Amino acid sequence: MLKLVPAVAPSGKAQVTERIKKMPRPDGALQCNRCGSRTSATIMNGARVENGRVQGGTEIHRHVCFDCIRQGIYSPMMPQLKRIE
Ligand SMILES: [Zn+2]
Repeated sequence: MLKLVPAVAPSGKAQVTERIKKMPRPDGALQCNRCGSRTSATIMNGARVENGRVQGGTEIHRHVCFDCIRQGIYSPMMPQLKRIE
């Protein structure tokens, strides 16, 4: 059975996240549209170490939010995308 639960005040972390997301994004900056993080990740597949250097591989995701992808959430960071409210 479903029940309605009263709204809960956002936690301290959620308040900080919302405040950061509302701040104006620096021109051209990569910033997560979901959580406000500025840590980006590029995901490679099939890279190999040859002569002590990582070589080759195929880039399968570029400029995705590292903090979201650690939680299993795919969130591209390009500035032209709309923010998630
Ligand atoms: Zn994020």
